[in-house]
Amino acid sequence: MTQIIDGKLISQQIKDELKEKVTALKAEGKEICLAVIQVGNDPASTVYVGNKKKACEYIGIKSLAYEVPEETTEEELLGIIDKLNNDDSVHGILVQLPVPKHINEEKIINAISPSKDVDGFHPASVGALSIGQKGFVSCTPAGVIQLLKRSNIEISGKECVVIGRSNIVGKPMSMLLLRENGTVTICHSRTKDLKEVCKRADILVVAIGKPRMIDASYVKEGATVIDVGIHRDENNKLCGDVDYASVEPIAGAITPVPGGVGPMTIAMLMNNCVEAGLN
Ligand code: NAD
Repeated sequence: MTQIIDGKLISQQIKDELKEKVTALKAEGKEICLAVIQVGNDPASTVYVGNKKKACEYIGIKSLAYEVPEETTEEELLGIIDKLNNDDSVHGILVQLPVPKHINEEKIINAISPSKDVDGFHPASVGALSIGQKGFVSCTPAGVIQLLKRSNIEISGKECVVIGRSNIVGKPMSMLLLRENGTVTICHSRTKDLKEVCKRADILVVAIGKPRMIDASYVKEGATVIDVGIHRDENNKLCGDVDYASVEPIAGAITPVPGGVGPMTIAMLMNNCVEAGLN
């Protein structure tokens, strides 16, 4: 029978473990604090920021909200980041992306101190991951590793195929699977024979951004299939990059959408905040 990997349950376990740690730290007089900066009021960003605040509240992390207007200049935003970098009571800094077009995203990411980079997007964090040093790891791929480990799915020695090479999912995902001793192949829009490569996978991680593209014809029988995608279909129903109905019967294990990878991202962000507080 196919193992359905329950991201809702696993993310709840992680949040409960973190809540315990944070309570113990509070008893020692240490309060962990995350600063979240949102520029403008893009509705999707407002939902994401709201969910992050809720998770902080649940775990007992103090959250500082900087909701600044759309017209905020790059200099002003850099000024807020600089102030937070130098504030010892702030452990994590997160700028909700995307930022408005007049602000250079790369400059903003680079301005956050690597020791407070809880999103794991700073070049120093990415570099640390690639050479096996300590540093913050991008939350969604870190969540996938937790899903695999906590579902007792062995990574070491396995053929791992990642579809997608984005900086926030595909690339760090590949580095993490490599760190866990997987044999990793990265596929992208120029990959030839995508189906053939995917069919080699014991663990197939799909982060392609195309609704239900990966059907059973891409999947080896018994493979673990992790679906990072998230979309609304023509009936406003949530779906992933994987055609769940076709893949679930042949997979050994699979993540559903919703309730798979999605809830793990915030859980891992909270984990990074707690680590930032312990440093
Ligand atoms: P992206 O658009 O930046 O990257 C998509 C990648 O897929 C690219 O590297 C591209 O080369 C590859 N690709 C596109 N078409 C392809 C094709 N036909 N064949 C092979 N490769 C192809 O997307 P992203 O930011 O990495 O996100 C991927 C998906 O994950 C999206 O659906 C996004 O909404 C979702 N996502 C979910 C979470 C979460 O918390 N669950 C977090 C981030 C992203």
